[in-house]
Amino acid sequence: MKCFPALLGLLLCGLLAACSTPPPPAASGPVILISIDGFRWDYLQRHDAPTLRALAAGGVHATRLSPSFPSKTFPNHYTLVTGLYPQNHGIVANWFYDPADNAKFDMSKTEARWWQGGEPIWITAEKQGVRSACFFWPGSESVNRGIRPTFFKHFDHKMPSADRVDGLLAWLALPAAQRPRLATLYFDIVDTQGHTFGPLAPETGAAVKEVDAAVARLLAGLERLGLRETANLVIVSDHGMSECPPDKVVFFEDLMDISQVRVEANGPNGGVRPKPGVDVAALVAHIRAKAPPAIKVYRREDVPARLHYSRGESIPPIMLIADDHWTIEERSRWTPAWAATSKATHGWDPATPNMGALFLANGPAFKQHVELPDVANIHVYDLLCALLGVKPAPNDGDQRLARAALRR
Ligand code: AMP
Ligand code: ZN
Ligand code: ZN
Repeated sequence: MKCFPALLGLLLCGLLAACSTPPPPAASGPVILISIDGFRWDYLQRHDAPTLRALAAGGVHATRLSPSFPSKTFPNHYTLVTGLYPQNHGIVANWFYDPADNAKFDMSKTEARWWQGGEPIWITAEKQGVRSACFFWPGSESVNRGIRPTFFKHFDHKMPSADRVDGLLAWLALPAAQRPRLATLYFDIVDTQGHTFGPLAPETGAAVKEVDAAVARLLAGLERLGLRETANLVIVSDHGMSECPPDKVVFFEDLMDISQVRVEANGPNGGVRPKPGVDVAALVAHIRAKAPPAIKVYRREDVPARLHYSRGESIPPIMLIADDHWTIEERSRWTPAWAATSKATHGWDPATPNMGALFLANGPAFKQHVELPDVANIHVYDLLCALLGVKPAPNDGDQRLARAALRR
């Protein structure tokens, strides 16, 4: 009788082991993670992208990669490389306020203090003896617990896409002992043109074509270096893009007395921090009464659980979350002239179809001709770890993408 619990334990262990199949073996060539900022999931068919289309068709393609909330650049790039929701890695927006230190974050901030939440893939790799190289990626210019990528570049928005590819190829051309095994590459032109002209504009189509040509240039370079056969490419974007017409703009000033708050987020989601002494419950009720149905108003702790956006003082205590196409702005800062130069944006609920992002993967470690259903971007980190054969740091994702995409 005594050994019955032990026997049961053994049986349970066996069952659990069978359910959690170990990840597939690591690949040997370079693992290249490419981000095409603002590449909406359907651009692959809607715009001219022959190289990307061929890689998707021959490898693994997910219908849509779901971003994490808010569907902005910095939170999502850091989610892709840490597997953590923004509330858990701490980059909760492109710009935010840290009341504990009375400090402001924006996209130019590379000081280590902002980038300590979670472990980006290049740190996981370096800690386990895998060399990494980042040709741009939010957070890659920072030190994480004393470690940084072996190679990295300070971000330069103006650098042409082809030069970024050539820079990465120069690192991959190093002798095997110095060559990185994990590389990141980042393109911003598709996002920039999407904002200015709209997702389906010819100018955005031309940007897609430019990046497609840059990926073709990378493939040709890998071929020259003898790395094409062993390289595994994971190509993602951070979010989609959707029109924000001027007749769907709501002004903070029409919803509340803004002298009572500090406005900390605008666009597809607004965020305000009530000043000391303000009755928060009364203010929320007031904003709710004034807001149109397209805007939902929440106290931070009541933001729907599926958005994972309730934890941490940097998230504004009152969130105004708009439906697709609607935005919330300060009247004093918004002008029709500015709106005319900004046709589209992103930041909406990840479940909004237009916020869907890109996921495709191709290389010897990947299955061929596989279409996957929508997948959340928290699972990309574990996939990269499986490709590199390194142990992932604790994160919000799991092995589902690795299992679905990798050959056994
Ligand atoms: P968003 O406002 O969310 O559309 O942000 C996109 C912009 O982020 C791009 O146009 C880039 O200029 C900027 N960006 C992307 N990566 C970096 C980086 N590593 N450092 C600074 N800015 C960046
Ligand atoms: Zn972006
Ligand atoms: Zn953008």
